[in-house]
Amino acid sequence: MSSTILVVEDEPAIQELIAVNLSFAGHKVLRAFDVDQAETLIRAELPDLILLDWMLPGASGITLARKLRSDERTRTVPVIMLTAKGSEQDKVDGLEAGADDYITKPFSPKELMARIKAVLRRRAPQLTDDMIEVDGLKLDPISHRLSGRGQPLAIGPTEFRLLHFFMTHLERVFSRTQLLDQVWGDHVFVEERTVDVHIRRLRKALEPTGHDLHVETVRGSGYRFTSQIPKI
Ligand code: CA
Repeated sequence: MSSTILVVEDEPAIQELIAVNLSFAGHKVLRAFDVDQAETLIRAELPDLILLDWMLPGASGITLARKLRSDERTRTVPVIMLTAKGSEQDKVDGLEAGADDYITKPFSPKELMARIKAVLRRRAPQLTDDMIEVDGLKLDPISHRLSGRGQPLAIGPTEFRLLHFFMTHLERVFSRTQLLDQVWGDHVFVEERTVDVHIRRLRKALEPTGHDLHVETVRGSGYRFTSQIPKI
């Protein structure tokens, strides 16, 4: 699945090489040469992942990593640090500043793509293409197909995204605001009521095979997708 990835790298040749590889893999690429440009881009659109060079003109990558972690809006965005530095202490500093992973230059595009996939799988599984199955409900992000115990289920695109998010975050309660941020994207102005409408449609789509019972309303909090339907 395509993700929006911000590349913060001041060396034009390296930035270009990374951007080309990411685009080729189907990702949307945002580019910045320094921390100021990166912050402007992040304000306009929250990326799904940030590739962040350590040594940048002006403020360093590590400064930005710390800032991202201390801000509510950017706290959970995965960050991979890129650097020529290879010492153990630098690695520790990077991880302590909140980076999810660390790649030492020079790296091969293949290694970079593998690391990105691993970080997304860990931090944002709804952005990967892995097939998921919960209690006989099977969701395939590549073909956009859904089935319940082998029976194909018709589902709208928004409900599909919502279900994908739920199935990759089992048992956790999400508020309507959190679901809007995660499924609709932040900076998208949709009323919270809209979430309820799509939850209703999602339940309807799952009804034919009884999987609608996995979608639980948690009073006063929001919604949760459980792996086990309570036995009556
Ligand atoms: Ca640099």
